[in-house]
Amino acid sequence: MSVRPLRARTRGDVVTNQSANPPSATSPGHVLAVLRAHGPMTRQELQERIGLSRVTLVERLDALRRQGFVRASGHRDSSGGRRAELLEVDDETSAALTVDLGQSHAALAVTDLRGSVAARETHRLPVRHRPDDVVPMLLDAGRELLSRTGRTGALRAMALSLPGQIDHERGVTVAPPTMPDWNGRTLRDPFEDAFGVPVLLENDANALAFGDYCAMGRPDSTVLGVKVGTGIGAGVVVSGRIHRGESGTAGEMGHMRIEGSDRRCGCGRRGCVAANASGSALVRDLRAVGVRSMDDVVRRVADGRGDAVRAAAEAGHLVGTVLATVVTIINPRFVRVGGAVGILPPFLEAVRKAVEEYAHASALRGLEVSGSELGEDGAFVGLAGLVADATLSPAAVDATLAP
Ligand SMILES: [Zn+2]
Repeated sequence: MSVRPLRARTRGDVVTNQSANPPSATSPGHVLAVLRAHGPMTRQELQERIGLSRVTLVERLDALRRQGFVRASGHRDSSGGRRAELLEVDDETSAALTVDLGQSHAALAVTDLRGSVAARETHRLPVRHRPDDVVPMLLDAGRELLSRTGRTGALRAMALSLPGQIDHERGVTVAPPTMPDWNGRTLRDPFEDAFGVPVLLENDANALAFGDYCAMGRPDSTVLGVKVGTGIGAGVVVSGRIHRGESGTAGEMGHMRIEGSDRRCGCGRRGCVAANASGSALVRDLRAVGVRSMDDVVRRVADGRGDAVRAAAEAGHLVGTVLATVVTIINPRFVRVGGAVGILPPFLEAVRKAVEEYAHASALRGLEVSGSELGEDGAFVGLAGLVADATLSPAAVDATLAP
């Protein structure tokens, strides 16, 4: 740690085609932002809120409509009997290519900006897969998926989630030890070159948390998303933005230490939550009864086999105990637990009980802990939400409309 003189921060959270000049409060991008926050609205209502002349506003709206940013959404009956056209943000015309990359799979989907999936496919990946093989495969699969859905021309951006930390400034990943070949790789460039659109990278647990936040209708409250799959991660959404921390490590709940545990973790240390309560820990613990994969764990719990149900509940208790501390510190309104293991009922129930038992009483007031309802689309919804925020931002919209 070092002490540095204070300086103005210039680093943006989302690195995309943002122009250096902030948009004027009446630019087309600003008109869209108002519509996004308060729409659907009539032209009259927009004009009153923004204070533009009618002619200029109509010009702005025409430009936004031509580019597929704005559309009509019915009419409002006014007192004078005239029906005024309602306008809203068009989040269906534009497309996003979203990719969720894991230790054993890569799932791709073409979505609109709300995360509705037009087409998806999942590729199983070998253990210790390498970017030199996987990236070209993803480029081909992405092109094919876009062309099959007829959405190539509508593509606004691409977003990719993967385990580990992301250096957002450089578009480089700090991959977990289980994916050593992905460490320090520049991932943004090959996709940007291939698709000619901005590429967003995000940690997988952050993407899932953001997906839950978007699916809830972007509430004005703090959302904590926990992902328990092969590993354990968490994402925090505060004021509509993912809190990533100073080095992209925020939410790495799986590597908090459990007192008294000596189990070796994939991160190289001992006693981590992930070494005791993740999907891979469950696979290892249930090896004696024939479990070989996460799918086996999920099936065995669903079948109600005592050993698997007990192991899932114990893992849930451990995660819940740690989560109680996180809840006390962050004080969220919603906790959503997702991932293949996270949504197993005995696991989730144990998480909920431990949080209720150990979190500070005032942090429990109004807290809602539940399973993520997004299933396998969770990352897609979150990534599409990030694409929406990046491409519908005033600066990005003005850049798109610039002659
Ligand atoms: Zn660890």
